[in-house]
Amino acid sequence: MASSETRKPTSIIVGGGLAGLAAASRSIRHGIRPIVLEKRGYLGGRAFSFTDRETGVVVDNGQHIFLGACTDYIDFISEIGARDSIYEQERLDVPVLKNGVVSRLGWSRVPGMGMLPSLLRYRHLSMADKLRVVYGMMRVRLTNRRKNAETLDQQTFQSWLEARGQNESTIANLWNLIVLPSLNDDIGDVSAAAGLMLFQTALMGSGRDAVIGYSRVGLSELAGKHAMAYVSEHGGDIQLNTDVASLWFEGDSLRGVRLADGSTIEADAVIAAVPHFALGSLLPETNQSLAPLAVAASLETAPIVGIHIWYDGPVLDEPFIAVVDSPLQFIFNVTAIHSGAMEEPDGGQHVVISLSGAWRWSQMERRELEDLFVAEMARAFPAASTAHVTRFLSVKQIDATFRVTPGSTAARLPQKTAVPNLFLAGDWTDTDWPSTMESAVRSGNLAADAAAEHLSR
Ligand SMILES: Cc1cc2nc3c(=O)[nH]c(=O)nc-3n(C[C@H](O)[C@H](O)[C@H](O)COP(=O)(O)OP(=O)(O)OC[C@H]3O[C@@H](n4cnc5c(N)ncnc54)[C@H](O)[C@@H]3O)c2cc1C
Repeated sequence: MASSETRKPTSIIVGGGLAGLAAASRSIRHGIRPIVLEKRGYLGGRAFSFTDRETGVVVDNGQHIFLGACTDYIDFISEIGARDSIYEQERLDVPVLKNGVVSRLGWSRVPGMGMLPSLLRYRHLSMADKLRVVYGMMRVRLTNRRKNAETLDQQTFQSWLEARGQNESTIANLWNLIVLPSLNDDIGDVSAAAGLMLFQTALMGSGRDAVIGYSRVGLSELAGKHAMAYVSEHGGDIQLNTDVASLWFEGDSLRGVRLADGSTIEADAVIAAVPHFALGSLLPETNQSLAPLAVAASLETAPIVGIHIWYDGPVLDEPFIAVVDSPLQFIFNVTAIHSGAMEEPDGGQHVVISLSGAWRWSQMERRELEDLFVAEMARAFPAASTAHVTRFLSVKQIDATFRVTPGSTAARLPQKTAVPNLFLAGDWTDTDWPSTMESAVRSGNLAADAAAEHLSR
């Protein structure tokens, strides 16, 4: 056994986020032994959880949701044995609150009707605006993204929609309701290419593509714990607290990596699965063929702020709800998501307000956030005006996602590089997907496939 293990080709994977973990699991399938090197003391990268010191409750660094269309992510979760820990809706169903009225957007039970019936019933748009949206959706469906890739990458989604009859009301009450949380940026700042990708992929395929899913357990348990066990059981190695200082070249040949403590680790291939802003520091300046990779650093990032509030009684009667006439954006009922029950055993409820494109909120002090969001919750939900707040916590993630601003496509590099045994992974690499867990997993799979192809030659 030991000798057959040592004959296996090895891949070093730098970074234990979802991209690196997916690359490790795919490498195992290809018969390649992965060695994952993660500089932090835990796996999961930007999708992790921690224990809140005051309540002892496991808190995610940000509420993560996925769609049925995130097939690579769902397959990865299944592969590492965590499928039972995720939940998926049967049909898309999103309650939207405005001025005290809840109206639902969702997928029709009638085959072939998609979202149309719910759009026509949607109470937060006038009839004329509903027809505008239906027309806009038709234009989205009929647009060939690949053929028009260059022009779509150079304009904002908002200007693209405005040129197709959309107005302030349809943009605020429908289009941006979906764009802001999905792309973590305002509709006026994302490229038309990214906006069209989102709507075509999520809402214009099958009903299955559109469903919303989430983890029933903390994110570190979902991917980190299961991936650690999966990789170890299949002969791979994961080393935490291992900071890679740079790639290790001898002449033009990539031999492996050099760690921050000066030691080296050798392998047949290296997959750099680090964020775009961390790639540059791994690249030795002496290797000119790698100079074009510097463009990755031009991608910008956007923050997400999670506002956790523990109440002494239930304030939400849904697992999640969107709010359009308030700063609340999307609110998730963590109690319901984790336990399936609307109340904690002590009768309380834990909710998280997920704030995307959160530049304004990320600058604010905790006290300011607490005053503002506790009051907003009381304004939007009658039960929140009588329930007492037992704990408040804000979680700020400044570089949560990369931005899909106009022109950003050029910085999304392919997984193959000019160095034959060096590959790139990370949500920011060229996957066609925005900054998501799906993009991360896809990139890891693509990089591992490319490495396997190279090593088989
Ligand atoms: C608050 C928040 C909410 C989000 N919500 C959603 C959501 O609802 N749905 C969704 O799909 N996505 C969401 N995302 C985005 C999603 O988390 C990311 O797209 C995904 O996790 C990126 O994975 P990655 O592996 O590409 O990068 P990362 O997770 O950043 O992993 C890179 C890893 O590389 C390690 N590393 C860096 N440099 C080195 C080095 N020199 N040596 C060793 N290791 C190194 C890092 O420590 C890190 O662990 C959210 C992100 C945040 C922060």
